[in-house]
Amino acid sequence: MMQLTIDHSNKKVSATFSRTNPFQAKVLKNSNLNNNGSSKETRHIELSLKGSGLSYVPGDALGIVPENDPELVDTLLEEMQWDPETAVTINKQGDTLPLREALLTYFEITLLTKKIMQQATGFTSNNELQRLVLNENVNELKEYMEGRDLLDVLRDFGPWNASAQDIVSLLRKMPPRLYSIASSLTAHPDEVHLTIGAVRYTANGRDRKGVCSVQCAERVQEGDTLPVFIQPNKHFHLPESLESDIIMVGPGTGIAPFRSYIEERAVTKATGRAWLFFGDQHSATDFLYQEELENYLKEGVLTRLDAAFSRDSEQKVYVQHKMSDNSKELFAWLENGAYFYVCGDKQHMAKDVHNTLIDVIEKEGNMSREAAEQYLNTMKDQGRYQRDVY
Ligand SMILES: Cc1cc2nc3c(=O)[nH]c(=O)nc-3n(C[C@H](O)[C@H](O)[C@H](O)COP(=O)(O)OP(=O)(O)OC[C@H]3O[C@@H](n4cnc5c(N)ncnc54)[C@H](O)[C@@H]3O)c2cc1C
Repeated sequence: MMQLTIDHSNKKVSATFSRTNPFQAKVLKNSNLNNNGSSKETRHIELSLKGSGLSYVPGDALGIVPENDPELVDTLLEEMQWDPETAVTINKQGDTLPLREALLTYFEITLLTKKIMQQATGFTSNNELQRLVLNENVNELKEYMEGRDLLDVLRDFGPWNASAQDIVSLLRKMPPRLYSIASSLTAHPDEVHLTIGAVRYTANGRDRKGVCSVQCAERVQEGDTLPVFIQPNKHFHLPESLESDIIMVGPGTGIAPFRSYIEERAVTKATGRAWLFFGDQHSATDFLYQEELENYLKEGVLTRLDAAFSRDSEQKVYVQHKMSDNSKELFAWLENGAYFYVCGDKQHMAKDVHNTLIDVIEKEGNMSREAAEQYLNTMKDQGRYQRDVY
């Protein structure tokens, strides 16, 4: 349902776009940031927000409502010998869609949950599935679900005594994917830019593709539209004062919000210093936004740029190593009131950076471990240690 906001002051009526009513943003640009020979694919995508009334500040994220891979949907239809045109009910309100369209645009078909597995037992007498969902086999079930999707379940636990409606009723609505905004609205009015890493992997004998990232990498063309909304992030934003120093640690796609920060600080002519730690696999192929960043360095918008490339030398070098190498100066910046930001990989990088930061404070501040941790906690309380990790 479209939400309408009535502005009584000038009687203008404008649509409010949101998670439940996304704006169809036109794709202005979609390019690969990695060079030939890279094992990665990172897309730089520019979208138009013209006419949407949407706005954002550096640190906010953009939500995209993605569509499933048509190849995967067609394989599913073929596997089950379902008629793509069969009407299926998609929600509690009783709305219907042709089956193929419902599988493409409405349902999540690539992620399994315990609930799906348990409810699926109602449509097959396959003993193995009945066994797998028993409470005592919870770990085995978890292991099965990792890196598998609906197609695997339908192949592994037949024969099925279920209609297409029965199966889609097990599925949940496709959740939107969030992306840290990589542009400044002040620098690019009516536009929003993203940095999206294509997720591709092989698991259980099949090549798998991340729904949204690979849609953007393989199927979204310039001129197409994507349904989007703004997801504000109150806990990740630039300091209020233009005089404050900022330290940004953003390897891989973690660079995204910092491109936004740097662009914004260039426009607002911030006088505070800015230090960026970037990292990826190879300098020759994976130095995202290298030219832009080096220009900002020349212009003085960036004060320092330290890049770590993990696969360029025998010994892997990561952003946290660059932090350690520069511990004296890093601590001096912190002592001077700098804000410290981290964005990107939650599982490993953010933890390593956190621990290294404590190491740096402990060493350069001549403090005990506890005092260094307290120092960081105080920074957090002051809003000077902010993380956007996923
Ligand atoms: C606040 C926020 C900001 C973000 N910003 C960015 C950003 O700027 N850029 C960016 O690229 N991403 C960003 N992300 C991540 C992004 O939202 C998506 O999660 C990502 O793009 C994957 O979505 P997808 O639809 O392509 O993959 P999905 O279809 O959602 O598949 C991803 C899932 O596949 C599984 N998987 C992945 N690799 C493997 C493997 N090797 N083996 C087994 N299973 C695996 C995991 O379960 C994983 O969760 C952000 C996330 C959040 C929450």
